[in-house]
Amino acid sequence: MNKEITSVQLTKDYFDAIKKNDPEIGAYLTLTEELALKQAQFVDQRIASGEEVDLLAGIPCAIKDNMCVDGVRATAGSKMLDSYISPYDATVISRLKEVGAVILGKTNMDEFAMGSSTENSAYQLTRNPHDAERVSGGSSGGSAAAVAADEAAWSLGSDTGGSIRQPASFCGVVGLKPTYGRVSRHGLIAMASSLDQIGPFAKTVEDCAIILSRISGEDKMDATSAQSADKRYEDFLTGNIKGIKIGIPKEYVQNLEGKIKEEFEKSVEKFKSLGAKIVEISLPHSSYSLATYYMIMPSEVSSNLARFDGIKYGLRINDQENTEFIENGKTERNLLETYMDTREYGFGTEVKRRIMLGTYALSSGYYDAYYLKAQKVRALIRDDFEKAFEEVDFIYSPTAPEVAFKAGEKTDDPLKMYLSDIYTVTANLAGVPAISFPIGFLESDGKKLPLGGQLMGKWFDEEGLLNAAHTFETN
Ligand code: GLN
Repeated sequence: MNKEITSVQLTKDYFDAIKKNDPEIGAYLTLTEELALKQAQFVDQRIASGEEVDLLAGIPCAIKDNMCVDGVRATAGSKMLDSYISPYDATVISRLKEVGAVILGKTNMDEFAMGSSTENSAYQLTRNPHDAERVSGGSSGGSAAAVAADEAAWSLGSDTGGSIRQPASFCGVVGLKPTYGRVSRHGLIAMASSLDQIGPFAKTVEDCAIILSRISGEDKMDATSAQSADKRYEDFLTGNIKGIKIGIPKEYVQNLEGKIKEEFEKSVEKFKSLGAKIVEISLPHSSYSLATYYMIMPSEVSSNLARFDGIKYGLRINDQENTEFIENGKTERNLLETYMDTREYGFGTEVKRRIMLGTYALSSGYYDAYYLKAQKVRALIRDDFEKAFEEVDFIYSPTAPEVAFKAGEKTDDPLKMYLSDIYTVTANLAGVPAISFPIGFLESDGKKLPLGGQLMGKWFDEEGLLNAAHTFETN
């Protein structure tokens, strides 16, 4: 630490940048200026009194709006939680508070993390810092754009089918989805519980390693959090990948074309020049991955979102307070009407679509044909990865089949939007860690649009994965 700037000054500088850039970008839904300055002051005092502080202490960050921060609004991008103030900290937040991180605010996202562009947010669009006509990706688009637009030093997102990696690719930053179970989801507003993971966005792989070290580890509040020894992932960044084996799944790259193909091939050459051995591999069940994801995810969505019934949390449409919802002078509703009207008004179109699909797939008589079948295919996809990892250390592909698209380009066609997730959903289905990092740019209308490469690693091999991406990035 060089003590060149205080945390309070740094925090104020970030708020200045937010005030300047965010009216155009739209990364933030809520700013927590008072909390941030208090946290920054506290760190400055500790440093002034000679205390050794953590690497993240005093560094300002942004948090996706589906993670709970005590006393702060958490909307998950939905009208359903518009006035919801969290009464507790998510485990990742309490860990960050312990090390002295500074929280600038909560970032925009697709409603309940469903989407690939932030266009499903009930509040606003988050524009791409590289081209304001384009989307920032999703669902953690606000967190990715905040880092890319220098409105936060780093941020947290959540990834159920690509929501950290795809926006990282679109915004030209690094995004890591850890192994399923590596990071506690206590206090994360759940989307699909067998797929959700929390992870960092930052400008460098090393920063992601530092953040992961602080947020990961077993948590008694999340039964799926894995028992694993505490690690300092930043200590594993040797910058040496000589002799490692990287597999390129032929199913992922066979349809690549044009400039994306060119940039991807250049990045493969770079891995070779760094001493990696490149081999072609097969993940034979790849063509089923999107269909499997879009069966399992909505099923879990329909169960998880059943709790938003107008009784327990957030919006309730049953009384005269909700005057904007009063139709035909109706001011009283019975219980069933309260449920139905709350969900009708509170949820957006995409969320309703998935709840309906999921409820159908789980219903008696269809369960075996849809949900159970999808679980069986999921096991085959996981087997593909087990077999591949007998042969190679990492699996490499582009993060997404495209660069950031224009706002409005896919909003009328959900299937087109879902195709954006084609390379990312498998890591969630298999549970393996995956990282997206910038590998090049494509030019369009005089703008340089970033493109990300995705490395997937073996279960719980974040140290190897981070080192491989770090070595690429720093050479
Ligand atoms: N884009 C994917 C979806 O819409 C992924 C979402 C996510 O990872 N939260 O489901």
